[in-house]
Amino acid sequence: MFTRPAAAIVPFCAFAFTAPAVFADGPFYGDPPDATHPWALHDMNRPQPPLVTPGSFSTTEQPGRPPSDAIILFDGTDATLGKWEADKNPPEPTRWIVKDGSLQCVPGSGYIRTKAEFGDCQLHVEWAAPLKVEGNSQGRGNSGIFLMGQTEVQVLDNYENPTYPDGTAGSVYGVNPPFANALRKPGEWQVYDIIFRRPICKDGKVLDGGRLTVMMNGVVVQEATPLEGGGGHKARTQDHAMPDKGPLKLQDHGNPVRYRNIWYRPLPARAIDGGDMGAMTPEAATAKKQAIARTIRGDADKLQGLAKLRRQMESLCYEPDTATLFRVEASLTAWLASVKQTPASGMEAKKGEIMQMREAVDYMTHFKFLPDSNPTKSEIDKIIDANGWKK
Ligand code: MG
Repeated sequence: MFTRPAAAIVPFCAFAFTAPAVFADGPFYGDPPDATHPWALHDMNRPQPPLVTPGSFSTTEQPGRPPSDAIILFDGTDATLGKWEADKNPPEPTRWIVKDGSLQCVPGSGYIRTKAEFGDCQLHVEWAAPLKVEGNSQGRGNSGIFLMGQTEVQVLDNYENPTYPDGTAGSVYGVNPPFANALRKPGEWQVYDIIFRRPICKDGKVLDGGRLTVMMNGVVVQEATPLEGGGGHKARTQDHAMPDKGPLKLQDHGNPVRYRNIWYRPLPARAIDGGDMGAMTPEAATAKKQAIARTIRGDADKLQGLAKLRRQMESLCYEPDTATLFRVEASLTAWLASVKQTPASGMEAKKGEIMQMREAVDYMTHFKFLPDSNPTKSEIDKIIDANGWKK
């Protein structure tokens, strides 16, 4: 029977117990390259984002002042942090502090989250890494902005501090590096403007994986970046069903990063999410067109004469309606009769009205909202020809 020599066992055991730790900035760390991703997750072989020097702050105006419809999450005035809580269940007050108008992470106290939950949004956040530079790589000025509590836009002091590109400031962490490194120096305020479209899931299926656009100090660093599941540490994520909304979270990564001027604006819903943006399903579009037609007919009921007729015609572009079509055709017949009874001396005064009606009727017949058999267009053309007007 073969017996392993003792000498052969010792080095193996020695290796097993003294193997160097796997470092985040080295290989063999995150998920390896795969069929559609040529880099490993957190891959130092990936090119560093190019350096871009952001424009200077105006000396007279603070950037990112909230617009009128913004929902303020932190403006420096609420020392009790009433809109925030520790990211714990059951919830408890956060131990982060408000100091000199800034919201400051207390290392070891844990993430914080908003009490409000929201999804698609425009988000403005300003942050500053500690002036005193300590640590390196991911250990320097690290925090993070977690949309819906899941997808991190990285906050990190990687000013002259290289680390893996998909974990640098402005990265969608573990998904995509920023296009550029437009950081200011540590201690200075950095400005993020983020546009977030959440993943949309129906019946457990992901219909839209969501995307993020990020401006860092006025420089685009992400543009509709697909979330690919939201990103994570070391493990590659894939699109998966996610809730419709969630809290905004800020990360405690052990560094006293400061925040100020945090606000958001909810974004209008996409058609795929029951909203108006983009192509709708035929059923949703029909329902919307019926509602628009009802509004237009309601307007028409309050009008008189040609204004009423034109509004009634317009409603037919949104929804066919036999009663309205009859009214329109009868009104067109009556209007034509009145035009024909107009003395030659009065025709020039009616030219604008006639040309306007020709344009409307032409449109309606071209798109089949009025039947081809409707004689109004040819009758108007005869009047125009008789008066020598150009069509
Ligand atoms: Mg972070």
